[in-house]
Amino acid sequence: MARERPRRPAPWIASPARLRSLARAWRARGERVAFVPTMGYLHDGHLSLVERAARSADRVILSVFVNPLQFEARADLASYPRDLAHDRRLLRGVRVDAVFAPRAATFYAPGHATRVTVAGVGERLEGAFRPGHFAGVATVVTKLLHVVEPDQLWLGQKDAQQVAVLRRMVLDLDFAVDVHVGPTVREADGLAMSSRNARLTARERAQAPVLYVALQAGRASLAARGSAPLARRALAAERAMRAAVACAPLARLDYARLVDPGTFDAPAPGARKGLLVVAARFPSARLIDNLQVPLGSAR
Ligand code: AMP
Repeated sequence: MARERPRRPAPWIASPARLRSLARAWRARGERVAFVPTMGYLHDGHLSLVERAARSADRVILSVFVNPLQFEARADLASYPRDLAHDRRLLRGVRVDAVFAPRAATFYAPGHATRVTVAGVGERLEGAFRPGHFAGVATVVTKLLHVVEPDQLWLGQKDAQQVAVLRRMVLDLDFAVDVHVGPTVREADGLAMSSRNARLTARERAQAPVLYVALQAGRASLAARGSAPLARRALAAERAMRAAVACAPLARLDYARLVDPGTFDAPAPGARKGLLVVAARFPSARLIDNLQVPLGSAR
């Protein structure tokens, strides 16, 4: 169990070399290090990962880095919410031992030319709608894991395809890290917390819970057709999700699908677990959400 220490504000460290030597010193003393990568503008979803990490390891390192490589549109990168004073304030309420906040200009060496790409799961859905996104994510997480060398990597179920992509990468490239996943933290009306929610106008915010409504409609549809062939149940669930999103005039659907949580392909007949995934564009922000579903007696 994590030892209780008096809570001092965690040091913010920009230098990869300094962060690495701090983490190495902890590990040399036999302390287990958990790592929570974020892009900042923290909310309760991030904090719940930190709390889980603090319960399962001796030291928690959080990174705050808006990774330019994973944004395909310059405007999206420029308008991504940032507020380091807000982040510092929120972090006072949880146990974090160090914050790694590298500067993009130095973290990526001049002439940086290497990309880590994950074929298959990294090319489907989010990968197809946001070309280059997962290569940006896999590349920065590779770099962060090389700097921090943590025992545990903590990710949120909110970004389920990112979890699947990074699990694949960790396995394929022999990273010596255990991947842990924390559940999605939601607002009272069901909207999954996201830094991007801050960009929504009042009207968009009022309609944004439609993603969660759609996922619940998909789950109800699957449950109601328990004995039908899986492919038919999937089509009905996807229809139910599309119909729900269509009720929000400001939302434009990118996709609503039932997938295998590991591959993001259609679940195989006989699969016991599925994942409903949905993505929709509002004028001010694109939102994604997902829900794990039992496929029960599916054929
Ligand atoms: P981000 O800052 O959006 O890159 O997210 C950093 C980490 O926090 C990722 O592993 C996300 O999946 C996770 N995360 C973001 N939002 C939530 C949420 N609402 N609930 C749980 N985890 C989340």
